[in-house]
Amino acid sequence: MQAIRSRDTAPEMAVRRLLHAMGLRYRVHYKPIPTLNRRADIVFTRQRVAVFIDGCFWHGCPEHGAVHFGVHQDYWSEKITRNMARDADTDERLNAQGWSVIRFWQHTPAVRAAETIAVAIGTLRRDAQ
Ligand SMILES: [Zn+2]
Repeated sequence: MQAIRSRDTAPEMAVRRLLHAMGLRYRVHYKPIPTLNRRADIVFTRQRVAVFIDGCFWHGCPEHGAVHFGVHQDYWSEKITRNMARDADTDERLNAQGWSVIRFWQHTPAVRAAETIAVAIGTLRRDAQ
């Protein structure tokens, strides 16, 4: 079964707009590793940074995950557990190929996400200490 990743969600668009305004260029819904069938939401190929903006419900956010939904909880929990295992597996495979993975929850403020990404790809410098 395909993991549920909805494209072009509002939180994702907000982050993309901010990155674009910072002059950063990236690929969207792109496979960091061509032979691995996993797409990241935002990909910086040269810096080898893959960004995922995970939906709170489907990816098991501790604040907004399935625990807040009483109906069919077992069914959803099982799906969400599978999604989370797949997410961890994706991270492991990308790391093994020299990629850095950054994940945000959809509830993360876009400004904070964009700033973290900019630091990660080295365009925004922070003092080391
Ligand atoms: Zn959340």
